[in-house]
Amino acid sequence: MSGRLEVICGPMFSGKTTELIRRVEAARGAQRRVVVVKPTCDDRYARDAICTHYGARLAAQSVEDVRAVLALANGTEVIAIDEVHFFGAPTVNLVAQVLALDLRIIVSGCDIDHFGDPFDPFHALLPMADEIVRMTGICSACGNPSTHTQRLFASRERISVGGHEQYAPRCAGCFTPSAR
Ligand SMILES: [Zn+2]
Repeated sequence: MSGRLEVICGPMFSGKTTELIRRVEAARGAQRRVVVVKPTCDDRYARDAICTHYGARLAAQSVEDVRAVLALANGTEVIAIDEVHFFGAPTVNLVAQVLALDLRIIVSGCDIDHFGDPFDPFHALLPMADEIVRMTGICSACGNPSTHTQRLFASRERISVGGHEQYAPRCAGCFTPSAR
């Protein structure tokens, strides 16, 4: 088997984690050994599971730094990483290392931040990908497909973990970038 990178991206509330869980369960159903990883900073619903905003969950290992994933790769065939935008630029090197081991790696995360800018590490991951799935949700203002995530509170920080109270799905037309 050769290395394979699958990228699931899109705004919040578009079903990215649901799609990641679906792929993990399909791989496990085919007797693949899968390790599931999430960033420690994402403790919205659980520290030891990836969770959708709608209640689905799957056991996962929390890591502080994405570089720790390499140590988990031993003996696995598939690595799945949720909320990869929280890990930032070091993700790119990690993915390259996993691919060099001929493993399958599935990553999911937001590709556009609340300023409307591309979110690291997607600009570098997309050209490396064997498959890209760009998910959309439903704009909470007009009902069209959502491509952006609107932050509903004032903050200049790029990363702030939140849910329905803090963020809303928006189409490009209804999206207002956060003030810098
Ligand atoms: Zn809209």
